[in-house]
Amino acid sequence: MVMKLAFEEFDSFEAALEALKDKLDFKIDDPFKDVNKVLCIEPHPDDCVIALGGTIKKLVDDGIEVVYLLLTDGSMGTTDESISRHELALTRLEEEKESAKLLGVKKIITLDFADTELPHDRETRKEIVTVIRKEKPEMVFMPDPWLPYESHPDHRRAGFLGIEAASFSGLPNFNRTDLVAGLEPHSVSAVGFYYTHRPNYFVDITDVMGLKLEAIRRHRSQFTDDIWELWEPYLRTMAMYYGKLCGKKYAEGIRFIPGLFLHICPFAGDL
Ligand SMILES: [Zn+2]
Repeated sequence: MVMKLAFEEFDSFEAALEALKDKLDFKIDDPFKDVNKVLCIEPHPDDCVIALGGTIKKLVDDGIEVVYLLLTDGSMGTTDESISRHELALTRLEEEKESAKLLGVKKIITLDFADTELPHDRETRKEIVTVIRKEKPEMVFMPDPWLPYESHPDHRRAGFLGIEAASFSGLPNFNRTDLVAGLEPHSVSAVGFYYTHRPNYFVDITDVMGLKLEAIRRHRSQFTDDIWELWEPYLRTMAMYYGKLCGKKYAEGIRFIPGLFLHICPFAGDL
């Protein structure tokens, strides 16, 4: 029989950390246990499928509801001078619906900020908190805001807004208007960063890679034949990068951080 040590008896960081992780409900190596709903925050109408299309398909097949929270209207995503912002935004939303349907995602919530101009401010944070309180997901996905060399401000800001909202949604005094409107504080047990260079969890998507590419291609305004010629190899290479890290052909990589370690934690980057 293994005797449980009192916490003060651990004399190495590693042993203490393992015991601490044991106390948490969320397990990085079994992240979807007891998860019924996931909120996937995306800056633009194709980020969830590009980053996590395979994972999303598998979650839906396992009976887990996936809801998209689309932050901007995607109205900058073209090099065609004849398309107006308004026209492009409408087209992209339709493409997003088709793509989501292919993966089994039934709900897309839109906040409609202007593409490239997502504000990183308290009002936007509040809007995301309200969505978390309405949807009550156990887990929230977002882009990793610390991805080196990421040039797009919407991606960095979506990541920061996402973890801030996930950290504050459980605090009743944060945006009390929600409570007056009948919503309850809601805590998420973990966040998962996609588009990450520091994954600590992998999903083997080899068997659904074809479907993932098909769902990405539904974003026709983004992936014309010319663009696809370069992007299909790019997407496959990205999936092979994560695949190489976990010994599979194609994979998606996620960096999970349990809620407790999202604040003042010097080892969150090592989990
Ligand atoms: Zn994007």
